[in-house]
Amino acid sequence: MDEAFDAIVVGAGPAGVTAARELANAGLSVVVLERGQFPGAKNVWGGILYREPTEALIPGFEQDAPLERPIIEQRYLLLTDDAMMGATFRSERFAQKPYNAYSALRSPFDRWHAATAEAAGAEIYSEFAVRDLLWREGCVAGVTTGDEEGELPANCVVLADGANSLLAQKAGLHAEWKPADQALVAKELIALPAATIEERFALTPGMGAALEIFGESTWGLLGYGFIYTNKDSLSIGTGALLSDLIDTGYNVNDMLDRFKKHPAIAPLVAGGEPIEYSGHLIPEGGFDRMPTLYGDGVLVVGDAAGFVNPLNREGANLAMLSGKLAAQTIIEAKARGDFSAASLSRYRELLDRSVVLQDLKKIRHVTPFAHQRPHLLRDYPRLAASLAEEYLTVDGTPKSAKYKKLMRMIAGAPKRRLLSDAIGARALLG
Ligand SMILES: Cc1cc2nc3c(=O)[nH]c(=O)nc-3n(C[C@H](O)[C@H](O)[C@H](O)COP(=O)(O)OP(=O)(O)OC[C@H]3O[C@@H](n4cnc5c(N)ncnc54)[C@H](O)[C@@H]3O)c2cc1C
Repeated sequence: MDEAFDAIVVGAGPAGVTAARELANAGLSVVVLERGQFPGAKNVWGGILYREPTEALIPGFEQDAPLERPIIEQRYLLLTDDAMMGATFRSERFAQKPYNAYSALRSPFDRWHAATAEAAGAEIYSEFAVRDLLWREGCVAGVTTGDEEGELPANCVVLADGANSLLAQKAGLHAEWKPADQALVAKELIALPAATIEERFALTPGMGAALEIFGESTWGLLGYGFIYTNKDSLSIGTGALLSDLIDTGYNVNDMLDRFKKHPAIAPLVAGGEPIEYSGHLIPEGGFDRMPTLYGDGVLVVGDAAGFVNPLNREGANLAMLSGKLAAQTIIEAKARGDFSAASLSRYRELLDRSVVLQDLKKIRHVTPFAHQRPHLLRDYPRLAASLAEEYLTVDGTPKSAKYKKLMRMIAGAPKRRLLSDAIGARALLG
């Protein structure tokens, strides 16, 4: 193919497909190259999909998209090795349309999503792994799949190749990714009848719950386990920062195995049949570890740019929004006939004004804060569990003695540390 495309998108995940759909809708010529057998074949999420940001990009998606259950309940749980405690929020508002969020399975969702871009006129080719970028006079001018026939020229290349983007490195936009910038997660899909799921999670038919579980679920490392209810399966996973896994020698597969066997978790998954297993990276470096987001003839979107908010498990929505903003940038660059870095810097402007970079900036210190305080997910759950056990045990001890014992247990916690954690946490949210 000699004629240059307006844009080549590398990767048919949420970011790449959104960019392609928006570009095609505006009448630009765009091709998506996906290394998997089909869009979604290699992709992983938990996964919770928020309705409002998705609706803003794909109006009416709820009618057609393969969704699992509206999420009406959120549980945050803390595990010690033999206890569990937590907070639950269940809302009638979340149980009515418009729903807040859905559980969804990645592979069917990505296939459906890719079809929306094809319907708009984008070409999507699967089993095309982009190996490198083509360069002309110092500018990115296309991609190559490794042989001469696989050389495709374009005015602009959108790097939507996900976490640990090798192409962003090759474009000179990012130094090597570090293990501290990525979390490694193991996930299983466990088949269970819908009625069993509803009984175990106390759900009305068709409705769903999301559980995020800290502490022993990651052997106390920074990260969390999760369980999300699908129609007739559970998504269960756990993971931690890659650097911590390397330092401790913990294996994320063993972590998931042990998580599933925890006395509070085992009854939820009992009798289920594991039907899918996957492992995947999540970018965790946040605002301070992003690559340069644009260069001459190139833009970086989604996980490749590190657009993940781990606090609110937002990734897909940020990926899609960044894809849309990249498309808007390319549409304007085409109108100007200028795909230089100066022209594409508009992408950064749009991102700065959007929820993507505003949120990442806001939470930029959260991961370092928690990482510097390993006791948060180890010592505090244990203390909270001991306090709860003591308070709830009725064994003839007079309450005055019991309350004194509880106060002694609290006083035994390092006060300076408690104070510093409380002040630090307050500053984070301020
Ligand atoms: C375990 C886990 C749980 C998660 N849970 C949630 C959740 O509940 N909610 C949420 O919103 N987000 C969640 N996320 C994050 C979310 O999945 C990502 O943020 C989102 O998928 C990013 O989309 P993307 O398009 O940027 O990248 P990806 O979805 O990773 O897509 C990248 C695509 O590029 C392709 N590709 C890579 N290299 C090449 C190449 N060289 N040539 C051609 N194709 C290539 C890949 O095959 C893939 O299809 C989770 C992630 C993980 C791993």
